[in-house]
Amino acid sequence: MTTHVFQFPCLSDNFGVLIHDSGSGRTAAIDAPDGEAVIAAAKAQGWKLTDLLITHHHADHVQGVPAVRAAFPGLRVVGPAKEAARIGAIDVEVKEGDYVEIGALKARVIETPGHTAGQVNYVFEEDQIAFTGDTLFSLGCGRVLETPLPVMWSSLAKLAALPGETQVYCGHEYTEANARFALSIEPGNVDLVARADAVKALRAKGQPTLPTTIALELATNPFLRAEVPAVQKAVGLEGADPAQVFAEIRRRKDSF
Ligand code: ZN
Ligand code: FE
Repeated sequence: MTTHVFQFPCLSDNFGVLIHDSGSGRTAAIDAPDGEAVIAAAKAQGWKLTDLLITHHHADHVQGVPAVRAAFPGLRVVGPAKEAARIGAIDVEVKEGDYVEIGALKARVIETPGHTAGQVNYVFEEDQIAFTGDTLFSLGCGRVLETPLPVMWSSLAKLAALPGETQVYCGHEYTEANARFALSIEPGNVDLVARADAVKALRAKGQPTLPTTIALELATNPFLRAEVPAVQKAVGLEGADPAQVFAEIRRRKDSF
């Protein structure tokens, strides 16, 4: 079994991603921001899409589903049980702790309410690859739209607990703007300064800043660092509950 991942930009700042199991020939797309772009990416790789793994109900993640289904008859669409009614046309509804098999590949489903109330992440534990949708971004996290702010802290903590080497693919290329905000919180974080420089160089060449890793995010992403004294101090909440510190950081980012 060999696992291949192909990431491609689409729409204005979304990512499409495909994961392919060369043994079985099965291929899954993670979300369908733009049906034509997903279909073109699969064809360019010579892969036939067999599965589509949906993270959450927002249009920029599901609007391509009908086109992808039409292009690949027999496609299995997997999505969050808690958002199935809103998304529609889901073949397999998944919830926390479920496993999804793509040939020999196996993803564990992690629910991370916050950005949306039913959002799920797909973690291929053996391959150490996580697809985090709009929950965890590089140097950032999704806007908390459907739960109280502290709920998102608990959700991010589940992803932060994954092995540090885990490769993280997410829904958007927001890293450069996220870096500017992160530096406003932790200007003295040398890992963050180095990451911001690397991100700037990649974007100047038109290259993606993803995937990232859990270890890199733990060292640089302010939203995962609400327990760090320097971060707490930066937002005037030394010694406070990390969920409250997270909430304050998220509020500041919303108006940054
Ligand atoms: Zn979203
Ligand atoms: Fe999105």
